[in-house]
Amino acid sequence: MIPSAVFSPDVIDRAAGTLLGAACGDALGVPYEFAPRLTEDRTPEMVGGGLGPYEPGEYSDDTQMAVCIAEALRDHDGPRSPEALEQTGRSFLTWFREGASDIGVQTARILKDTERALAEHGGGAAEAMTRRSERMFEEGERCAGNGSLMRTAPLALAHLDDREGLAESAARYSRLTHGDPLAAQACVLWCEAIRHSIVHGTYDGVRGGLDLLPPSVRGGWEARLDKAEKEPPSFFAPNGFVVSALQAAWSAIVHNPVDESSPDRYAAPVMAAVRAGDDTDTVAAIAGALVGARWGRSAIPASYLDAVHGWPGYRAAGLGELTEAILRRHTRHPA
Ligand SMILES: [Mg+2]
Repeated sequence: MIPSAVFSPDVIDRAAGTLLGAACGDALGVPYEFAPRLTEDRTPEMVGGGLGPYEPGEYSDDTQMAVCIAEALRDHDGPRSPEALEQTGRSFLTWFREGASDIGVQTARILKDTERALAEHGGGAAEAMTRRSERMFEEGERCAGNGSLMRTAPLALAHLDDREGLAESAARYSRLTHGDPLAAQACVLWCEAIRHSIVHGTYDGVRGGLDLLPPSVRGGWEARLDKAEKEPPSFFAPNGFVVSALQAAWSAIVHNPVDESSPDRYAAPVMAAVRAGDDTDTVAAIAGALVGARWGRSAIPASYLDAVHGWPGYRAAGLGELTEAILRRHTRHPA
């Protein structure tokens, strides 16, 4: 049980909605990844297929990698401790060998090169992975894909009362595979949005997190959020670039305002994220994490919760237990 003396039932519900919201968005987007964009009259369904092929309700690499992070947070006290980072790095490599049903180009290259470096020189996985990612950026390669933003949500669960610590963790975990600071900045903003949503039940953390970014880039991110609020989600396709993916997700949310009593308060914005097209599962996983953090597990349709599952064997109940274990470990108990 999560200590109810620390968190209200609403906060616990919203925390539970975060990883589940991401997983359900992922599974809802899987059938339509890189397929022709769904028109407004078509309802996305968890029918599987896609690039995997996936079973109905099965989530993909986005949630598989988020689970690697979540398990490390479950197992270690310091979210950025060498032990937690190393477990995450090792889990990414295990997943790459055994569980990756599909994988982004940039992440595949980093993990493959890391395996080779470890085979030749030994050493720590997280350190080798980070070094490879930073070198990719230093050499001027494109390395600002959406692959770190898609997996970042569990970090918020380990930092509910520590926004600065969360920003540091978001950037650090992004750098494991994504050396471009843009990817880290997107993770910082989205993690703070999720944390704020869980704690306060509003989306105010999306802009509220701008002060966590370096001053020189705040104006640029403000303009990107303005654009997301102005243009429809499909405007940002292709959305493999981390900035476009965040804009598509935020656009899907702001263009589908729902109130507390709406039965579609989870499904409407997440379906809109799928209809953004292109990297549908990733945009819906990113949006789904924040929408789940805003409205809670109780807002996610039961049919989604019944169907969702994936590597390495989680269903909704298991993802819920994983969330509870992270909260228990990272909550400061009152004396
Ligand atoms: Mg995917």
